[in-house]
Amino acid sequence: MKFEELGLKPGLLRAVSSRGYTKATPIQAQAIPAILKGKDVLGGAQTGTGKTAAFALPILEKLSEKTSKGARNPRALVITPTRELADQVGESFRDYGKYLSLDIIKIYGGVKINPQIANLRNGIDIVVSTPGRLLDHLQQKTINLSNVEILVLDEADRMLDMGFIKDINKIIDFLPKQRQNLMFSATYGNDIKKLAKGILRDPVSVEVTKRNAPAEKVEQLVHFVEKNQKRHLLAHLIKDESWYRVLIFVRTKHGANRLTSQLNKGGIPSAAIHGNKSQAARVRALKSFMKGDMQALVATDVAARGLHMEGLSHVVNFDLPNISEDYIHRIGRTGRAGKSGIAISLVSSDDKQYLKRIEKLLNTSIPEGNVTGFKPVFETPANNKSTKGNQNRENQTGKSTKNTNRPVKFKSKNKSMGAFGPKPSGPNKRRRQSA
Ligand code: AMP
Repeated sequence: MKFEELGLKPGLLRAVSSRGYTKATPIQAQAIPAILKGKDVLGGAQTGTGKTAAFALPILEKLSEKTSKGARNPRALVITPTRELADQVGESFRDYGKYLSLDIIKIYGGVKINPQIANLRNGIDIVVSTPGRLLDHLQQKTINLSNVEILVLDEADRMLDMGFIKDINKIIDFLPKQRQNLMFSATYGNDIKKLAKGILRDPVSVEVTKRNAPAEKVEQLVHFVEKNQKRHLLAHLIKDESWYRVLIFVRTKHGANRLTSQLNKGGIPSAAIHGNKSQAARVRALKSFMKGDMQALVATDVAARGLHMEGLSHVVNFDLPNISEDYIHRIGRTGRAGKSGIAISLVSSDDKQYLKRIEKLLNTSIPEGNVTGFKPVFETPANNKSTKGNQNRENQTGKSTKNTNRPVKFKSKNKSMGAFGPKPSGPNKRRRQSA
């Protein structure tokens, strides 16, 4: 469907076309007319489907019908689970609304509150916020939400996973009862159904893919590998296959820091983003990754949602997530907006239970990839003092890995393929390189 058919004003059409969009995505074609009609909407949309524009464009359209300047309270409130997502959604609103005269503010923690207070005083039309900092403003009475006409809960499933349900309910108490509600979620478990029932009134459901489906066009592969070989295999793949912009997910903040320093030492420029990093450090890391100064960005799941990254070559699950839905969000970072992408999971014996659950959720088994030319690396006290004494802890296969150069047998799902499959350039290898 063309954007011109959606009834948007010329300023919005200009902004959309300046971003190079020619046609509305399915979620946009379904959600925009419903939102313009004033309906509550429950959007089941996986990441990368264009869902931000699906709510931002009609909100901008509706609010721009009545504008005023000077001190005024926000009329639309968008709540997101993470700072990064708030940042990106706020920027999208600004970009789509660049030919309109609406003021948009992004509110999240980790940065000074006073500039936010000053901006709010000047008058704001749209607030994009994470729950915590918004509650700070509400408690300090530096924001007044009594004029909010439209509420958006973006990545609602993630907000529930992150334990924000109480905060959301507290925030909703500050909103007028009469308002339009839009809720977006990639997955649709019982908790989300309950939340939707409590907030939405007679919603129009718009859903663009099978629920719990991973981003289409993402090629998924697993490599079975001993835990203490994961980083060596990862470095080998990045170098051997010239992965140029890799987003790597790990389960813990400590794990993110450790892997980042190991990759850097191995000549792969890398940075970490996770919850213990300041907002400034996270923004810096993201920027240098997007500029190409960093080849790899190592992230915990805080970065899994909403981050918009153009041109990722690969997403790697260094550890599989223990919440299966997170797998879908993680791999959704690649293959966005119709482009193809590759998601690789490194599966040690620890991860196998998670792999089983993920494959059950996806209702398919993920094929095993081929690796050529990888030789396991065994640490010796001389070549790696830092891992001395850590071997048994790192090798969670139940067997102790001694510091010898004896080859270790890798367990493979497909036994006939051996540790990493047949040797030269299998079809996976070719596909990986051409994508
Ligand atoms: P989102 O799902 O909102 O995070 O959007 C994912 C990506 O799709 C972003 O890079 C958007 O800029 C892009 N996008 C959104 N709408 C369209 C469209 N109609 N045509 C092409 N790309 C789009």
